[in-house]
Amino acid sequence: MQGQKISPYIDEHGRQYFNFCLGAQYLCEDMANSDQLKYIVYKIIQCEYRNGTEYYHVTRDGKILPNAITANRLHYILNFTLVDVLEPGERQELPLTIEEVAEYYKQKAMEQEKQKENLRKAVKEDSEYQELAKTKKKLMIKMAFAEVKGDYEEFALLQPHYQSIEDIINRKMRRDNIDVVALDNSKKVCPYCGNTGVYRGQICKCAKQNEEIIKDYFAVKRLRQVKPN
Ligand SMILES: [Zn+2]
Repeated sequence: MQGQKISPYIDEHGRQYFNFCLGAQYLCEDMANSDQLKYIVYKIIQCEYRNGTEYYHVTRDGKILPNAITANRLHYILNFTLVDVLEPGERQELPLTIEEVAEYYKQKAMEQEKQKENLRKAVKEDSEYQELAKTKKKLMIKMAFAEVKGDYEEFALLQPHYQSIEDIINRKMRRDNIDVVALDNSKKVCPYCGNTGVYRGQICKCAKQNEEIIKDYFAVKRLRQVKPN
């Protein structure tokens, strides 16, 4: 394993984790004192993921080591000196990286573009869409007028009709395999990152809110890579 980086631990759902667990305690032989057998206890007190490398902050007999050690180094130490695992600790999931977030947003934008293109094509070739769109537009204008005039009774009458037209359009789009949700999402643009997921070199707030979805996206991708088809 020396030299070659240990790949992250991947669970059955395709999610990525640190190789070693937070809070784990290892009873090890002290190799520096080979004439008389001495034991030391290592404990992982913090897991950190930087530039694609796992780092561990570790105590040695209760004293913090000055530098965090890499997964490779820890693997090497345990391989040669481990006597017993005193505490298994808790496995931590790897945080999302900026690269993953950027890739996810790029993929999403491409998918939305494809859906818009599908819709454009469908509308062009299908007169029913054109009729529905016309009706929707007329209703929208009537509602806007009613609102301006302060005629809320009229507005309240028009709204269910408008909603039903929209429902018909949505149902029709689903039948034509147009992803209504993706289209809707494409209209929402994050004021910080402009739907790139990265703002000022950091993972944007909007991406953090979608952390689980983004992690699952890559988890599914990983599972597909492991098991073709
Ligand atoms: Zn954003």
